[in-house]
Amino acid sequence: MTVADRVPPLAASALHCTGSRAPDRNGRGDRNGHGVKVELLAALTTVGDAWHTHCPRVADEWREVLWLWDRWTSLLPGVDIIGIFPGDPGGCSRNGCTHETYIGGSAEVAALARRNIPSVEVELGTWGPPFFAWKIIKGPDGWQGEFVPQFQGTAWAFDKPRADAAMTYLLKRLPVFPPGTSVAINLGFNGDGNPVGEQDARP
Ligand SMILES: [Zn+2]
Repeated sequence: MTVADRVPPLAASALHCTGSRAPDRNGRGDRNGHGVKVELLAALTTVGDAWHTHCPRVADEWREVLWLWDRWTSLLPGVDIIGIFPGDPGGCSRNGCTHETYIGGSAEVAALARRNIPSVEVELGTWGPPFFAWKIIKGPDGWQGEFVPQFQGTAWAFDKPRADAAMTYLLKRLPVFPPGTSVAINLGFNGDGNPVGEQDARP
């Protein structure tokens, strides 16, 4: 299979955008003229119908990830928001990848998206719940990023020091993202949305 075979054929036709603008209820314009903003939301490195997690530290895999984002944003010039998400199925824990790898890779994709769609808003998704991957999720011996359902549960591991380190690093790196970038906090680290104690991401 070539890289070109992996471009979802429905991408260009799934969203019909005229490029016209009309104010929405909050006075902000949308690009399709219907008062509804449209977001392209995808995991940073999940590729193909087998949900393979590519590794930013494997040159060919990262090249393919960037190629895909370039194609998606070229095929969908009318989207209002580009959403970048850590998982599913859980991001990369191979080759030393951590939350820092995710943030660095996301910044590169954000810049690429803004080159193709200059007015697009970038939304950066953060972690938890679960505290998906990027140094958390495990795989079988010899794992090369394949989607392995039996190991998905390993991503449901909360670790406050890691959460603090990840969020602190994100705050430090926010200036590398395009102006106006939104940061999505994923239920504050608790699957029920009612975090207590060390699970609570609120200040
Ligand atoms: Zn990796």
